[in-house]
Amino acid sequence: MTLKRRPQGEPKQEDFELVENELSEPGPGEVLVRSLLLSVDPYQRGRMSEARSYAKALELGETIISQTVGEVLESNHPRFTPGDVVVGQLGWTEYAVVPAHQLRRVPDGVPPAAALHVLGTTGLTAYFGLLDVGRPKPGDTVVVSGAAGAVGQLVGQIAKLMSCRTVGIAGGPEKAKDLADLYRYDVGIDYKGQDVDAALKEACPDGVDVYFDNVGGQITDLVLLRLALHARVVICGQISQYNNQQPELGPRNLGLLIVYRARMEGFLIPDYAHRFEEALTRLGRWLAEGKLTHREHVTEGIENAPRAFIGMLRGENRGKTLVRVT
Ligand code: NDP
Repeated sequence: MTLKRRPQGEPKQEDFELVENELSEPGPGEVLVRSLLLSVDPYQRGRMSEARSYAKALELGETIISQTVGEVLESNHPRFTPGDVVVGQLGWTEYAVVPAHQLRRVPDGVPPAAALHVLGTTGLTAYFGLLDVGRPKPGDTVVVSGAAGAVGQLVGQIAKLMSCRTVGIAGGPEKAKDLADLYRYDVGIDYKGQDVDAALKEACPDGVDVYFDNVGGQITDLVLLRLALHARVVICGQISQYNNQQPELGPRNLGLLIVYRARMEGFLIPDYAHRFEEALTRLGRWLAEGKLTHREHVTEGIENAPRAFIGMLRGENRGKTLVRVT
């Protein structure tokens, strides 16, 4: 699946094109992989635009970049044999020929979906964003926006494992119910149906010690009003802004960082690559002990990947968005 034209505002199906290319034979050190599951992520929206960012924009006609889990069909490298399940940056494609060093084996017993979610980039984002940037202490109140999404559902559960009190914000009554019922949030707030300011005031009587922000915009403005002294504000994502043609003005309330001597810090997960093994070991242990729940939202067929992507940006996903290649 390729980028046909750059989306203006919300992406449309016509911005994408499914094309067929001749597959080359794997050369020395290369591996032929058949995709099983494609990851669908908000950062892909940024790569479709030419605006300045941390990575270069996709060219028109280029395959949409993504993490992918696949099965090895042929291998010219001793580390892999046919039948191995691997994960790598293969993009939205059915087959790929890639150098072996770009692939990581999915350990036996790890379901392919988990390798793209709790034991993949998403889990690593929740782990390092919360623990390294947010630095929660037992008893802290941790507020998470985008809390029912792929990253957010894990942040809340990791915060509970750190003995924090957790408040999640998500869109719609079903997602707010999921926050409490599935993801162990102490309080779930539906920002579409509730008065967020009043709900935060009630849920955080002693203020917000850690705010893990996935969405930005007005929700963030309201959380900043409730910071506790020495609060940490983790800027993970700003999805409410990704389809904007012009940057939204604000936040205008940064003076609150002075009042509460708070720290606001953005982070990018590739910067933690040297510590991925440490995090995956700990996440894997929590998973094996039944301490982490994770839900995926799976769409069938690579031809439906754009639909899944557009739906995810609209909030139609209930969990980590994936596409199964059938
Ligand atoms: P999600 O599974 O959370 O899906 C996106 C969700 O965003 C939607 O379900 C929707 O939830 C919410 N959303 C969309 N528009 C708005 C809006 N206008 N206001 C509020 N919420 C909105 O995605 P991920 O978990 O994969 O990603 C979450 C965030 O983490 C993203 O911002 C992403 O860019 C960021 N990220 C950052 C990384 C880093 O290294 N810093 C790495 C990976 C992800 P709802 O229905 O609740 O509105």
